[in-house]
Amino acid sequence: MDQGLLIVISGPSGAGKGTICKSLLEKLPDMKVSVSVTTRKPRNQELEGINYFFTTKAAFEEKINHDEFLEYAQVYGNYYGTPKWKVLELINNGKDVILEIDIQGALKVKEKYPEGVFIFILPPSLEELKKRITDRGTESKEDIIRRLDCTYEELSFAFKYDYLVMNDYVENAVSKISAIITAEKSKAIRQIALINKIRED
Ligand code: 5GP
Repeated sequence: MDQGLLIVISGPSGAGKGTICKSLLEKLPDMKVSVSVTTRKPRNQELEGINYFFTTKAAFEEKINHDEFLEYAQVYGNYYGTPKWKVLELINNGKDVILEIDIQGALKVKEKYPEGVFIFILPPSLEELKKRITDRGTESKEDIIRRLDCTYEELSFAFKYDYLVMNDYVENAVSKISAIITAEKSKAIRQIALINKIRED
């Protein structure tokens, strides 16, 4: 069996990564999304084990010491990390997995797992980004400023990714990402099992 795809999605806060991933999962129900561990406090509607595994700084640092993360980073003052064993188990079982993680984390994954597919989501403009993050109403004023301040630097990392997708409309962005996934899965290097099967038949 060929390995599943590891799809890494990053982009500035407010670019719409969460909405895109949700629509992508509706369109491609076999896809799995990795649930990260964070020390950030849950927002209104967020659920333990669905949006994140919420934990304390001490418990997170213990997991770091036990090498439980594929990657982790401090983002906007909190720890966020991808549980290693779950992601590797899914990929080894042929499942495609999405990681929605920040740039620091994505670059660490790229070092360890260069065969991943790295997608950067761009907002249509900084004005629109500011509007989206403010309208979301989930962050404090200071947190909004901190997130927007990071955007300029984050954009300079966009060219480290394999694909840039502008989120002007969610449907457009999702259909572009579906097309990327289809093309990536069709690469000859990912189809060794198929070639072996045809040879055996
Ligand atoms: P939020 O607090 O808005 O849910 O997420 C803040 C940032 O942390 C986003 O850019 C999100 O992609 C990133 N993030 C979420 N989970 C992880 C993770 O496991 N690792 C890393 N490195 N970043 C993450």
